[in-house]
Amino acid sequence: MLFVQKYGGTSLGDEERILSAARRVAGLARQGNSVVVVVSAQGDTTDLLIQKAARINRRGGAREMDAYLAAGEQMSAGLMAMAIGTMGCPAVSLTGWQAGIHTDSVHGNARIDHVDCARIRRELASGKAVVVAGFQGIDPQGDITTLGRGGSDTTAVALAACLKADRCQIFTDVDGVYDRDPRVYPDAIRFGRIGYDKMMALIENGAQVLHDRSVELARKHHIALEVLSAFTGEPGTIVGDLE
Ligand code: ADP
Ligand code: ASP
Ligand code: MG
Repeated sequence: MLFVQKYGGTSLGDEERILSAARRVAGLARQGNSVVVVVSAQGDTTDLLIQKAARINRRGGAREMDAYLAAGEQMSAGLMAMAIGTMGCPAVSLTGWQAGIHTDSVHGNARIDHVDCARIRRELASGKAVVVAGFQGIDPQGDITTLGRGGSDTTAVALAACLKADRCQIFTDVDGVYDRDPRVYPDAIRFGRIGYDKMMALIENGAQVLHDRSVELARKHHIALEVLSAFTGEPGTIVGDLE
């Protein structure tokens, strides 16, 4: 089976969490699966980078911000590939542009135009787990773009579509999608399964658990998204077509 697994910032927050994700990836690879891992920047890295840039230049310019912010995900990708390597599983990290994520030129909120996953396919065929830096792509001028806050989810879905992945798993710091933010409302109710339209409505009401464009793309390609806890790996919520 071909898995695309995305890990969010908190799920990669420290060395132990990176190793724990790497262990899961290596385990799947050892069982004969192909695995593509999409990573976000660790912890609050993106917020910290934005604050730092603002101290240097309040109007830094969107192109330079993208070049700067994309580094957060690149660091995670390199670290994750090394972590998977220590589990005895060969792995390679790719930036968004190496992974063939082509976008428009709207810096800071670029939309994916097309994906060329030939390089990923080659790396998978050579027996490697492939780690892709989320949230980033390249525009027609060859400049680095970012996909908007939370955009690593969209990287994962775009790759799952291009690769025709069997599973697209979004690992995060809660154990699924709830009717309200479970951190704010302890009595929130978790969905076992939720349709795309209802998921979009939740996002429009402020549920940032998934990037809106990731759900749009999943709906377009009929990809079932599994939202689950990186800490337990227990089944969470399936976002998909409701029969
Ligand atoms: P990641 O870093 O894994 O991408 P995010 O912070 O983007 O994680 O999304 C996960 C967070 O979304 C949770 O920690 C939770 O507080 C918040 N959240 C808001 N609304 C919801 C909801 N309806 N269901 C689940 N999580 C929600
Ligand atoms: N690191 C980026 C952000 O904080 C992208 C992501 O996490 O999906 O918005
Ligand atoms: Mg997110």
